[in-house]
Amino acid sequence: MRSEYGDRVEKPLACWSGKETHNGEIIDCLTIIFKSGGCSWNRCKMCGYKSERYHNVTCDELTENIKRQLAYVLSEYKIEKFPLIKIFTSGSFFDSNEVPPAARDAIGAAFRGKTIIAESRTEYVKSDILEGFREIIDDGSQKMPLYVAMGLETSNDFIREKCIDKGHTFEDFKTAVSQARKVGCGTKTYLMMKPPYLTELEAMNDMQSSIRDVIPYSDIISMNLCNIQNMTEVEKLWKQNAYRPPYLWSVLKVLIEAGTHVLCDPVAGGKKRGPHNCGKCDYEIVDAIREYSLSGDVETLKMLYENGCDCKNEWEFVLKEEKPFCMPLTH
Ligand code: SF4
Ligand SMILES: [Zn+2]
Repeated sequence: MRSEYGDRVEKPLACWSGKETHNGEIIDCLTIIFKSGGCSWNRCKMCGYKSERYHNVTCDELTENIKRQLAYVLSEYKIEKFPLIKIFTSGSFFDSNEVPPAARDAIGAAFRGKTIIAESRTEYVKSDILEGFREIIDDGSQKMPLYVAMGLETSNDFIREKCIDKGHTFEDFKTAVSQARKVGCGTKTYLMMKPPYLTELEAMNDMQSSIRDVIPYSDIISMNLCNIQNMTEVEKLWKQNAYRPPYLWSVLKVLIEAGTHVLCDPVAGGKKRGPHNCGKCDYEIVDAIREYSLSGDVETLKMLYENGCDCKNEWEFVLKEEKPFCMPLTH
């Protein structure tokens, strides 16, 4: 394939199309995970992206590699079909060491006129950088052209530090939100259900209080369900039978009681490495969560929760009996 960047093809880490609910409408969305210079933090216990980076490249080479990935995306997808673009890197899109400004600007220019949701750690959320990028993408057609997405994970600083090693505080997140809002950007908050070392009940309680706490700072809230990625601390614990991903019952309960629309894509749902129940009731629940994520309608979730399954007793037992000594009762 030839592109304006020559013959060599660079593919992003992943790119896929799907539907997403945005401003009450279900629209086509393109999600891209660009390979970048890599996350500057690189320590979170559940992160599977730590090794995904270009090694030993100059800033110019990094810029060119990212532009080649962009060229690949533009050649593979009909961009005019997607009003919403979600951009992830193996770290922070607004870290200029990870995504050089020239590469960032080229991405912005390619997606001008779209709504962009781009993920970044809180320390790189600076109003001048966001404003510069927003000016590139904003053609006046979108009410809120740029949202910055941040992985707060939990509103509890102790859990975030000890169980995740995330390296920022709730206060840092609030500062980043004010930087974004100062220049008219929206915010999307990622929370993570069941970091390691928590019992099922502690994890559920933590998610419920986190949702309540982040509502004032978030235009969009998205709940990630912890899953076991290769070569992570969480995988090590899981192999020692010291970690179990969340039950889907816990997820249903949180979503039903959230009182606000929380987006949720149960990645690896129903599998041993993902959020799961007994294996019999999982797929129906996973489908219903995906459906709810689009519609915001909790009725089907309520129905499934009330109808139950034999394994709901096991979950209730775990909630009552699992003690916080780092060893789950089931696997
Ligand atoms: S900040 Fe994000 S990319 Fe970096 S280590 Fe943590 S989860 Fe991974
Ligand atoms: Zn079941």
